[in-house]
Parts: sequence; structure tokens; C-alpha cells
Amino acid sequence: MEVEVFIKNKEYQNLLKRLRERMRRVTDPQVFARLRRPKPIHRAHLTAPDGRASAKCFVRPRAIDLSRATWTIRDEDVTCKKCLAISADPCEA
Ligand SMILES: [Zn+2]
Repeated sequence: MEVEVFIKNKEYQNLLKRLRERMRRVTDPQVFARLRRPKPIHRAHLTAPDGRASAKCFVRPRAIDLSRATWTIRDEDVTCKKCLAISADPCEA
């Protein structure tokens, strides 16, 4: 009986240890930065005089959310897969 309690207590300790480890990993800024996906770079399709741009891959023109993505007019810098696919398609380009 005492052995069983000991084992359960040990399992519980291990579980706590794993949870603590996981929380440390997520809150560690370096790990968090690594987990975050890099911002995709869209190919600007339409640009407004005030600097707003819409991406080639957007079905309806809308301003790109710059906290989540950036844009370029240089085809070689585009990282968005959808924009690249549209640019590679001779019918769409
Ligand atoms: Zn795109």
C-alpha cells in the first residue's frame, strides 16, 4: 500500500515536472521566437497613394495586415506560396 502511494506520488511529481518544463519552454522568449512562424512576404498587386497595399493572393483587394505579413514589389523577395504560384502561372502574371 505504501509502495503504491509512493509510485503514484512519483508519477505525480514527474507529471508536474513535465508540465513545468513545458510551461518554461513556451514562456522562454528565445523558444517562443523560434516557434513563431516568420512573416510571409506577399507580392503587392494594388497599392494606394497612402502606402497601403493589397497582395496578389488576396481574392478581394484589402490592405495587408503589417503585424502579420509584409509586402514587396520585387518578385525575388516574395515568400508567400500563393503569391509565388500566381506569379509562376503564365496566364495570371
Ligand atoms: Zn500572398
